[in-house]
Amino acid sequence: MIGRRDFLKAFGAGVALCAGRAAGAQDADAPARAEPCVVDMMRGRERYLIDLRSAEGLRIAAYLLRDVEYGNLIGTPEFDLLRLAAWAQAYMAAYGRYTVLDIHSGLRTREHNAHLEKAAINSLHIPRTGNRFSAMDVDPYGIDREYFGQLVATTKFGGVGWYATHVHFDCRAIPAYWRA
Ligand SMILES: [Zn+2]
Repeated sequence: MIGRRDFLKAFGAGVALCAGRAAGAQDADAPARAEPCVVDMMRGRERYLIDLRSAEGLRIAAYLLRDVEYGNLIGTPEFDLLRLAAWAQAYMAAYGRYTVLDIHSGLRTREHNAHLEKAAINSLHIPRTGNRFSAMDVDPYGIDREYFGQLVATTKFGGVGWYATHVHFDCRAIPAYWRA
């Protein structure tokens, strides 16, 4: 958990990073432009600006994406999934549309998934070896869900599903798109 003071500090750092002004960007080995590595996510009353370069950030992401309904199991979200979320957020911010990703679902135990109507049997929400999973359902606060899904889909990074209350996206080899 991070306190309000740390949160604000992280927020300042995140803004600098997204603008490509990270201190590290001056290193000879660093890429010319900083890759988006900060994601603003909330679940219920908890909201964090997560720095994906830090172990603490990855822990917070895993915590927010736990299976809240079935035993609060905390797994390991695929890094590419988090990076995709950070990229989409930074892209929108660059055009003046800031959003917070309201998490509806991340990891889902097989038991949980089996109890859901219409959930895919081999859903990417279900953890594999090492409790790794590669899907999340989010409501991009203040942003049209259709637009958000289209933006993620342009990356051809995985699957995108549009639902009445959220957008599902995941990482997989062959992109797939669907509407509920
Ligand atoms: Zn989903």
